[in-house]
Amino acid sequence: MASGVTLGGVRQSGRDPAELPLARAAVAVWSDLDRRLDAPTGYRRTGNLRLARSDREAAQIARMVEDQRAAGLEIEFLAARRAIRELVPGLRGKVVAASFCPGDGQAEPASVLGAYGAALWRTGVTTGEGEPVRELLTRAGRVVGVRTLPVASRLGPVLGVANAEIALRRQCDGCFRVTGAAGLHRAVGAEGPRLGGFAALLASLAELLEGAMELRLAESWIGFLDRTPDALSVIEAPPVPEGLAIAFGFSGHGFALGPLVGCLLCDLVLGRPPRLSLGAFRSDRFREQSGRAAVILHG
Ligand SMILES: Cc1cc2nc3c(=O)[nH]c(=O)nc-3n(C[C@H](O)[C@H](O)[C@H](O)COP(=O)(O)OP(=O)(O)OC[C@H]3O[C@@H](n4cnc5c(N)ncnc54)[C@H](O)[C@@H]3O)c2cc1C
Repeated sequence: MASGVTLGGVRQSGRDPAELPLARAAVAVWSDLDRRLDAPTGYRRTGNLRLARSDREAAQIARMVEDQRAAGLEIEFLAARRAIRELVPGLRGKVVAASFCPGDGQAEPASVLGAYGAALWRTGVTTGEGEPVRELLTRAGRVVGVRTLPVASRLGPVLGVANAEIALRRQCDGCFRVTGAAGLHRAVGAEGPRLGGFAALLASLAELLEGAMELRLAESWIGFLDRTPDALSVIEAPPVPEGLAIAFGFSGHGFALGPLVGCLLCDLVLGRPPRLSLGAFRSDRFREQSGRAAVILHG
């Protein structure tokens, strides 16, 4: 499970001689990867600076530089502190020497995995995130498949429930994105987020999806829903002050509307009649209304 959380260094320097040809060939692949995956990986050749903080480490790095230069790698030994500090302004502590390999670089692990995931998805490959391989299946001594523990790996539609306590979907990269309205609302109190809502969300997930508790948690976060009394947004250019156009209160379902709302705001800002009627979204409706409408998160 390292690839998504790795540091993201893309390095040839310091490699075992047996591995150096692979590392050099890998850099050639990295150089063209954004184009091949049609997505940014964050790859850039920024060099790799390896510091020696004692004479012993300096001798070690000098040997490594000598070996790697002999193997044809462009790498230099920096003995002057000023040269090292020029590469990293603000570098502190005892630094006596360094190696610098300008052809080394770095990439953004999450972007790389996302780019590969999306490329697989585009070409029709199905991945089974959260589906551990339990057994190799063989026929006549030959591997013909694997037995996995399925976790709705073919979930296509966005899935929700009528009271909006949970909604989920499967991302392009195969991960599940799970969200809850009621649970999170209960969890967000005056003193800040509590774990209760999160636990309730997990319980709903376990009830809904076979094998869900086998999934690994990659990330969790809590966001606030800007909820209006009727769960509809406000989109208007109020009479005063002149020149102001506002759009807010999407009550948990504004992501889908966002691109259109941008166009509507553009109309309002430019003083044009909006391309769709906005009568239902004026803020003065709250003068007549009372009570609260349910939030529908999904879809
Ligand atoms: C903190 C850290 C920093 C690192 N920094 C760097 C760096 O800067 N540069 C560098 O080159 N390398 C770095 N590495 C090493 C690098 O990340 C790994 O060598 C590389 O990502 C390994 O890729 P992998 O595909 O072999 O394994 P992984 O990325 O670990 O993938 C293995 C996959 O197999 C899945 N799996 C395991 N068991 C089963 C099963 N039974 N059924 C189905 N699936 C299963 C796992 O869930 C996982 O998704 C770093 C590693 C770590 C941990």
